[in-house]
Amino acid sequence: KANRKFHPDDTIVDVGGVKIGGGHFAIMAGPCSVETPEQVIECARAVKEAGATILRGGAFKPRTSPYSFQGMGPSGLELLVAAKKETGLPIVSEVMDPSQLEYFDDVDMLQIGARNMQNFTLLKEVGKLRKPVLLKRGLSATYEEWLMAAEYIMSEGNEQIVLCERGIRTFETKTRNTLDVTAIPMVHELSHLPIIMDPSHAAGMSRMVRPLSLASTGGGADGLMIEVHNDPSKALCDGPQALRPDQFSDLTKDIFAMRDIV
Ligand code: PEP
Ligand code: MN
Repeated sequence: KANRKFHPDDTIVDVGGVKIGGGHFAIMAGPCSVETPEQVIECARAVKEAGATILRGGAFKPRTSPYSFQGMGPSGLELLVAAKKETGLPIVSEVMDPSQLEYFDDVDMLQIGARNMQNFTLLKEVGKLRKPVLLKRGLSATYEEWLMAAEYIMSEGNEQIVLCERGIRTFETKTRNTLDVTAIPMVHELSHLPIIMDPSHAAGMSRMVRPLSLASTGGGADGLMIEVHNDPSKALCDGPQALRPDQFSDLTKDIFAMRDIV
């Protein structure tokens, strides 16, 4: 079902009225984690002002250490929904387990994290829903494995999937991961599903986010996911890779200018 051969036309995914794919470009931005009411609303207003069309924020966090901040859970989703009501931005948030789905009724797009890309039980459950899914590429997943993960969701009837390249494990250790820009033309060749790029988790450092975002835009991505925090030094998760609102708005200006050319 994900194969371009049997479905030549680009799929256009609709996230609460925002289209992605088939020439429609979307920027998802917001904090790694929902932390406080003020933080979420400040980030939401700032990213909207800068031209983002979807608000991101994690409430259930897949952290490497069990002693790190694990996210606010259901109350975090409530804060995201409140920010959606105020700004009108649709929201995307990660679901880690089918048991959490009951809290996601007002969330417009379900994110499957890199670490859960092959959690087949979770993939089948979101496949039964009629809600768009953002499927991140696993830390060391091949294109084939990634597209087969999409196939699990589609095989249950849900074809509203956006793929997200977020950097893969390579021998390089200076960056958190290595952004695989080749994923853009390769996924477009193999599949009709849209692909967006997440330079924040790929690089792990804010100063790399701008060049990687511009490379992705020029390379034909259908959108971007960028972490933005109102005060990155105080972020409870992924602060070093978060852009400040002013850095984000400088970047979106150039992304939009580039989109006019691409
Ligand atoms: C995230 O988007 O905050 C996240 C945890 O991403 P990934 O699953 O790509 O690591
Ligand atoms: Mn993050």
